[in-house]
Amino acid sequence: MGIKVCKFGGTSMADGNVILTAAKIVQADKERKYVVVSAPGKRFGADIKVTDLLYQCSDEFERGDTVAFAETFAKIRARFTNIETEIGKQLGMKEALDEVEKEILGGAGRDYCASRGEYLAAKIMSAVLGVAFVDATEFVRFNEDGTLSDTTFDLAAQVLSAHERAVIPGFYGLGANGKVKTFSRGGGDISGSIVARGVMASLYENWTDVSGFYACDPRIVNSPKCIPELSYQELRELSYMGANVLHSEAIFPVRNAGIPIRICNTFRPTDAGTYIVKTSTRDIRDNVVTGIAGKKDFTAISIEKSMMNSEVGFVGKVLSVIGHRGISFEHLPSGIDTMSLVIDNEYLKNGVLQEVVDEMKTLVKPDKIYVHENISLVATVGHGMANNVGTSARLFKALSEAGINVMMIDQGSSEMNIIVGVENADCAGCISAIYNEFFN
Ligand code: ADP
Ligand code: ASP
Ligand code: MG
Repeated sequence: MGIKVCKFGGTSMADGNVILTAAKIVQADKERKYVVVSAPGKRFGADIKVTDLLYQCSDEFERGDTVAFAETFAKIRARFTNIETEIGKQLGMKEALDEVEKEILGGAGRDYCASRGEYLAAKIMSAVLGVAFVDATEFVRFNEDGTLSDTTFDLAAQVLSAHERAVIPGFYGLGANGKVKTFSRGGGDISGSIVARGVMASLYENWTDVSGFYACDPRIVNSPKCIPELSYQELRELSYMGANVLHSEAIFPVRNAGIPIRICNTFRPTDAGTYIVKTSTRDIRDNVVTGIAGKKDFTAISIEKSMMNSEVGFVGKVLSVIGHRGISFEHLPSGIDTMSLVIDNEYLKNGVLQEVVDEMKTLVKPDKIYVHENISLVATVGHGMANNVGTSARLFKALSEAGINVMMIDQGSSEMNIIVGVENADCAGCISAIYNEFFN
């Protein structure tokens, strides 16, 4: 008998009734032995995720605004006590919340605060299922530089082997300083993957509010096609570029062990979902493109200088300007006398952009340097694209017919990804145009 690990996202933990639905899913299959949960997410469009409320509490505590803190913490209390009422069982939420509030007010820190949504959600799921609660700090470990420690997998195997079944909170572990540390947002998907690898699961089921990984964001195109199967690499490219149904780092723990991931819908559990596997067996004659994803808010810094390509160390100098500021770049398209650096806007706030441009001017004395802000990157991904003549021609024709101006093109050497840079305002139109060309 195989072991399945189920991770339930925020939408599947949003209220008591959905939690009961999730619990039924676990109980419907004996192989579902380990359960990883997120903090309660949105119950309706204008609702606030518990994790966002916790970050807000942390900010209010940091700036000493005790009135605002009390108000926000009361909202968190209400979320969890309502869940307890809906489930109709004593789950010890009052005492647990009192303890959490005391710790936050005692200065436990921002990550501790943010992690409590998953902690409390896991306590609830463990009580509902009558299964042991195992804290993620017992095995998820981070290095000094914030990366996941390799010790995590052996520790996970060791700790979880003591429990035939367990519920584990997602999103956090123990930092090198011995304090709670979280992953980046959406990181519960990574926790699920760590648990799957720790117990050498036969399947990692990621339960969410959509019936699988769609060919593009369903908020942009109405009812896009569901991708029945995609490779780890395709998933990585698409999720990194904005398809946030699964965190882009969630494949790493399971990839080497070859554990497949299945995306499934808590609200339609019998739907087939999407399988993410080492090598997709999908027939590429069906579709050369697997999926399309886009991310907004990048800046391109373009540099022109005659004979740039024969000036030894030119690119190194340009990169040193961002390197010593701890800024990483997304893309670096280049020509004979031109190069562009595409950087996430986040890095360039509060005057940093101007500093970077000024330093580049001094260091490499370009003929011209210009900045284009508010760019979106749209990636068209698929193993079927490699060696398939005409794919890019179709893509660019579709964009030109839609009147979309392409400002930058980058094709990875794997030939499974064409990335175009367009104005933020054209992002959705660009995704729709490419989708219509390849899927309709
Ligand atoms: P969870 O609460 O389960 O973690 P998330 O909000 O993190 O859920 O991820 C699910 C959401 O991802 C969907 O509701 C959908 O709006 C969004 N999404 C973006 N791109 C895609 C895609 N290509 N396929 C499916 N869902 C997508
Ligand atoms: N609760 C966290 C977030 O909102 C982590 C997760 O849901 O995976 O980002
Ligand atoms: Mg998620």
